Amino acid sequence: MSLHSLDPRAPWVISTHDLGRRPGSMRKMTLVLPAPVDLNVGMIGVPKDADVELDIRLEAVMEGVLVTGTAGAPLSGECSRCLDPLTSEIEVGFQELFFYSAEDAGEDDPSLDGELLDLEPTFRDAVVLALPLSPVCREDCPGLCTECGVSLAEAGPDHRHERLDSRWASLQSLNIDVVDKQDDQEA
Ligand SMILES: [Zn+2]
Ligand SMILES: [Zn+2]
Repeated sequence: MSLHSLDPRAPWVISTHDLGRRPGSMRKMTLVLPAPVDLNVGMIGVPKDADVELDIRLEAVMEGVLVTGTAGAPLSGECSRCLDPLTSEIEVGFQELFFYSAEDAGEDDPSLDGELLDLEPTFRDAVVLALPLSPVCREDCPGLCTECGVSLAEAGPDHRHERLDSRWASLQSLNIDVVDKQDDQEA
């Protein structure tokens, strides 16, 4: 008995029973599975239990079952520039060989548990690699004003501030010329 025996009722656990072990036999499946928990990187991810649409092909090969597929899932998160909520979609491809015998498998290779395989880690790895590190609501999102934090998309192109902080203001009230300093800050 494996210490990690899989629960056949878990949504991402797939039976290879129909496939047999004859190399060359193949089966295609279309599935909709609930997204696993904590599938996000930084500011964006796949919401838990969202519908993940999978097209997969199971193929018996000498060493095990080769799974090739694509998965499509919704994304939700925040724009890394303006912090507005955003939604989008992701589509990933993956291929993984699940070994019949854990002894044949390398340390990081998955193996079958009897006739069962767990596709969740494969899907998770593919999504995590494909998620954008700096998601944006749109390619030209201007972000937030660094002075006051207002959304520049909403404030418009004319939004600007007098570039005076209190120190310069008090110097100016003494009529001391500080213009060059401010030009440096604009750069
Ligand atoms: Zn944005
Ligand atoms: Zn501002």
